[in-house]
Amino acid sequence: MLFDPRPKNRREEIFDREEELKSLIGGMEDYPITILIGIRRVGKSSLLRVAMNEFSGVGIYLDARRLYAAGGGTISQAVLADEIRKILLGKGRFGFLSGIKVEGISLAGVSLRPGEATIIDLFELLNGLGEKFGKVVMAFDEAQYLRFYGPRGGKDLLAGVAYAYDSLPNLGFVFTGSEVGLLYDFIGIDDYSSPLFGRVYEEVEVRPFPRELSKEFLRMGFSEVGLDVPEEEIEKAVNELDGIPGWLVEFGFNYWKRGSFERAMEGTIARARSVIREELIELEKRSPRYSLILRAIAIGLSRWSTIKDYVEAKGGPITNARLSALLRNLEKMGWVKRENGRYKIIDPVVEKILKE
Ligand code: ADP
Ligand code: MG
Repeated sequence: MLFDPRPKNRREEIFDREEELKSLIGGMEDYPITILIGIRRVGKSSLLRVAMNEFSGVGIYLDARRLYAAGGGTISQAVLADEIRKILLGKGRFGFLSGIKVEGISLAGVSLRPGEATIIDLFELLNGLGEKFGKVVMAFDEAQYLRFYGPRGGKDLLAGVAYAYDSLPNLGFVFTGSEVGLLYDFIGIDDYSSPLFGRVYEEVEVRPFPRELSKEFLRMGFSEVGLDVPEEEIEKAVNELDGIPGWLVEFGFNYWKRGSFERAMEGTIARARSVIREELIELEKRSPRYSLILRAIAIGLSRWSTIKDYVEAKGGPITNARLSALLRNLEKMGWVKRENGRYKIIDPVVEKILKE
C-alpha cells in the first residue's frame, strides 16, 4: 500500500523510481562503491531496501544510526559483525553459520576471534561468501554515523573499504544518508588524507517528485484505499507538501483514517511537528545557534547580514567566521540551500513548522 507510513521493502510497494532503482542495482553489481543521496524523507531507505531485495547477490542492509544508538554513541566492530551475522542467518541460505558465534566464524581460512580480528578479516570473510553465493554488498544507511566507528573517526572502517576496493572483487558497498555533505566528508573521496581518496564510485540521487508525479502519487494511493478525493484537494496538498514522499504518504494515510482534507493536513502537520522537533533537538546538541539560524531563514531573512542581525539579537554576539561555518554545516546537513547569495529552507514543511 502506497500510503503505508513505514519504509517500504518491496518493488510493488513503491511508486515510480524505476530509473533510480535501476541505477542503484547497477551500481551494486558493477561498482565497488555506490553513493545514494537525497534529502530527508525523499525515499532513500525505501529504495535501498527494495534494491537489496532485487539484487542478485547478497545484500546486507545496515542502519548506521541504529548501530550508533545501540552502542551508546559508538559503533564497535563486535556489534557490526554480530549484526551482519544475524542478517545473514535470516537469509536462509547461510544456515551453516547458525550455532557458530561471531568469534568462531571461520570461512575461506579466516576466523574471527575477539581481539584478533580486524575489519579486514571481516571483509575477507564476506568476500569469501561473495565468491560462493554472488557478490556481497554492505549497504550502510545514514552512513555519516560511521564516523563514530572505532576510536579514529571511522578511519579504520574506511581503510577496510579501501582495501576491499583494491583487493576484494566480491564485496561492494553502498553508502547513503540525508546529511549529504557530512556523508561526503566522511567518505573523503575528495580528501587526499582519506583512504578512499580518488576512488571511482557510482552516485544515485533521489529527488522529490515533480508536481505532476506528486499528484499522480496521491491519486494512485487514494484509489488503492478506495477513496474519491477531489482534484482541487490533491492540488492544495501538493502546494503545501511539495513532492516529498514522506509527507505525501503521511497526508494520504491521515486522509484515509480521518476522512477530510482539513483533518488530514492537521494530522500531517502535527506529525511533522513532532518529527522535526526531535531533529532540531539533535541539531541543538551540536550547537544551540543552529535553530536560531534556521528560524531566521524560515521567516524570510535570506541574506547573510540579516541572518547575523537576527542571531545576535536573540543569542548574543557571533563572529563572522563562526556564523559562516554554521551556515555551511546546515547546507551540508541538508537543511538549507543557497541560491544567488540567498539562503532558503529546503523542505517547505520544515519551513512552516519553524515559522510557528
Ligand atoms: P529517507 O530514507 O530518504 O528519509 P524513507 O525511505 O524513509 O526516506 O521514506 C519516507 C517515507 O516515504 C517512508 O515511510 C515511505 O513509506 C514513503 N516513501 C518514500 N518513497 C516512496 C515511494 N517511492 N513510494 C511510496 N512511498 C514512499
Ligand atoms: Mg532513511
